Amino acid sequence: MEQETQHFADVLLPVPLPGLFTYTIPLELMPEASPGKRVVVPFGPTRIMAGLIRKITTTCNTTANPKEILEIPDEEPIIQEEDFLFWEWIARYYLCAPGEVMQAALPAMLRLESQTSVALHPDFDGDKTTLSDQEFLVVEALQYTDRLTLKKLTDITGHPRVINLVQGLIEKQVVVARETMSEAYRPKRVTVVDLAQPYRDEKALEELFNTLEKRAYKQLELLMTWIRLTGFPERTAVILRQRLLKEASASPAALTALVDKGVFTESAQEASRLDKQPQEKDPEELQLSPSQEQALQQIQDGFSNNKPVLLHGVTGSGKTEIYIRLIHEAIKRKQQVLYLLPEIALTSQIINRMKAYFGHKVQVFHSRTNDHERAELWKNLISFNGHDDDISVVVCARSGIFLPFRNPGLIIVDEEHDHSFKQFEPAPRYHARDSALMLAKLRNIPIVMGSATPSIESYHHATHKRFQLVELLVRYGSAQMPKVEIANVSEAISKKAMRSHFTPQLVHAIKEALAQKKQVILFQNRRGFSLRLFCSSCGWHPGCPHCDVTLTYHKSINKLKCHYCGHMSALPTSCSECGSKEIRTGGFGTEKIAEESALLFANARVKRMDFDTTRTKDAYQSIINAFEQRETDILVGTQMVTKGLDFSNVSVVGVMNADSMIYFPDFRSFERSFQHIVQVSGRAGRHTHEGRVVVQSSRPTHDVLLLARQNHYKEMYRLQAEERRLFGYPPFTRLIRIVVKSKNNQLAGGAAHDLAASLRNALAAPVLGPEYPLVAKIRNEYLRHILIKLPRNKNPGAEKRKIEILTEEARKKSGSSKVRFVIDVDPY
Ligand code: ADP
Ligand code: ZN
Ligand code: ZN
Repeated sequence: MEQETQHFADVLLPVPLPGLFTYTIPLELMPEASPGKRVVVPFGPTRIMAGLIRKITTTCNTTANPKEILEIPDEEPIIQEEDFLFWEWIARYYLCAPGEVMQAALPAMLRLESQTSVALHPDFDGDKTTLSDQEFLVVEALQYTDRLTLKKLTDITGHPRVINLVQGLIEKQVVVARETMSEAYRPKRVTVVDLAQPYRDEKALEELFNTLEKRAYKQLELLMTWIRLTGFPERTAVILRQRLLKEASASPAALTALVDKGVFTESAQEASRLDKQPQEKDPEELQLSPSQEQALQQIQDGFSNNKPVLLHGVTGSGKTEIYIRLIHEAIKRKQQVLYLLPEIALTSQIINRMKAYFGHKVQVFHSRTNDHERAELWKNLISFNGHDDDISVVVCARSGIFLPFRNPGLIIVDEEHDHSFKQFEPAPRYHARDSALMLAKLRNIPIVMGSATPSIESYHHATHKRFQLVELLVRYGSAQMPKVEIANVSEAISKKAMRSHFTPQLVHAIKEALAQKKQVILFQNRRGFSLRLFCSSCGWHPGCPHCDVTLTYHKSINKLKCHYCGHMSALPTSCSECGSKEIRTGGFGTEKIAEESALLFANARVKRMDFDTTRTKDAYQSIINAFEQRETDILVGTQMVTKGLDFSNVSVVGVMNADSMIYFPDFRSFERSFQHIVQVSGRAGRHTHEGRVVVQSSRPTHDVLLLARQNHYKEMYRLQAEERRLFGYPPFTRLIRIVVKSKNNQLAGGAAHDLAASLRNALAAPVLGPEYPLVAKIRNEYLRHILIKLPRNKNPGAEKRKIEILTEEARKKSGSSKVRFVIDVDPY
């Protein structure tokens, strides 16, 4: 007898462990087995888990006795080879487990979930005399189907703790329980009402009218509403049950009566949860200015030379319109477009501009897209084949790089300098722009990165021929660049001219704007009411009990709050060190500025946009809408207001405190301050009138301020690049940070010290630390940082492997539960 060859599957599982896991493929599942399909497998002694088949082989890659695959639920692969290759690059580059990448990439709904289901015991003899009423119901139901989930059984029996019921039946050996896996995603279903075949004939319909008119007026109304809505006899529209009832103001009973009479039929259909806004503008008719046309041409030249393109376009230069043209070209080629944006604050405006041109072909994907919508989008992308109703463009935040594009033809990274493209927690700690560059390279997709203030890295690559640089240095139309003034805070203080946190210059500019019915944006890079409380006699300030930070006062809730762990506490009435009752406030946040604005500028309508006011799904949109509709005069906000927003009536922008950005101890603070100031300035005077920007600082001659005032990007770049080269920072090195954490401060210190020593031994590159980070304790864990500066010129793969191995050894040595180690590549 011929022996069938045994096949093995190397399976990717969502666990933070390196490598793949080998299973045997039972013969009966062989026809199903192929890479990219989901599988259900046993994991450890008791668990079952869902993973993805990566490879099928005839050699067993494990010394242990492999277990069998239990199920292969997919008919078609959901992940393709290209997707796997990209995931593997992320795992290698960012030093994390491939399972962690899978976890980040797959929408929650498509990860299979374990469910307990119940079936009749194979030996059950059918005797139901000993069963209680509710047990009887369970057994009855199971006789019609092979198995039922606990949820179904709850529905059937109405029993609140159905598990107890099942437990009893298991003991009596009437039923058996089994773990199964299923996908949580369910397509949305709607009921459609249609006219039954016999009544589609004119004569039959007329008779029906006559009978209903005499006896059932409500039913007649339903019928007439249906005819009106569908446009019978053409029947161009499909009518949902809910809509019909609402339009006819009829009761479900009347409708049921018609269904029972055989007049209407009802059927269930799958419906979309995605937004189906129609297209309003024709992209063919979009006219670009001559400089936009030129930039577009240069971008396309860059694409034909196979180079990533960096589009350096000043604020208001019309980068979005250029993207629209590029997207339109891609759609005409039946290709898909990945449009990455840093944060949702910006998405709502951009998405509206995109929808106007591309209608339902554009969809959004970000942290507030719900799980069902994500899963539907994912499925739609997998089945893309260029049909008119397929999704061609996805505007998304960083995790969009994991979407399964089948025929990608363009990647856009808008506001490429923005550091929210970097994921800090949990692994994979990837940077979406850098990952997108790799994705473009792996799959040969043109990529354009745009910014008014490019990152030092990107500009460095652009000036060293790795990227194609395209410049667009004038605003679109007749709009001028805003005029930036620096207001000297220390001078105003010494002259006693400050009005709370406002210099006379800023007060004047705001008053003038309000008098002309213009709007104002005030940028304050901290939220909360005031930075902190302190004791005026001894300097004590209330800190978080779990983190090494000062608490921030939030006036609206009248509490102190920790911005790292969320801890809240009541206001102290006296100093806990010296007992003094003189508690003062120092520093200031968005909430305080908003309050002061309302006091200083009577009658001005003030709104605040920050982390605290934008928690709910629609909060951003409503704040932005109110500002767009000119229902708000002054918008006070954090970083959120600096980003890409396009308002036509803003004439003044105030930067409340430039110093706290500039003197932040980080090698990027110079670059970031420049970016923030230029970006927020870019919100002013975008349409026709000239904008005015007032930047408040105590050291008004600082280079960053002078350069931001002139929007002198190139000089900022030159100074920064020189400094980074000198001190060995990116783009001249690659940074890797290892964070060592423990509830025990001494353990953290010891483990960090040992690891740093072994890294120094093994690596040629400089190893800095361990050091206390700026915030040295978060959520009761003490932290240490080790920083490695890998030289840029050689292939970092081998060095990274060493770092990974040494960290793994340290992890084992320290007893893994007590000390944790986190590797962060390009921590920024
Ligand atoms: P950026 O993203 O470069 O800051 P935008 O794309 O937001 O600039 O453009 C600034 C303003 O000019 C927007 O209101 C935009 O609608 C308008 N605009 C830019 N290009 C065009 C164009 N070709 N036709 C019409 N309006 C344009
Ligand atoms: Zn805290
Ligand atoms: Zn005190």
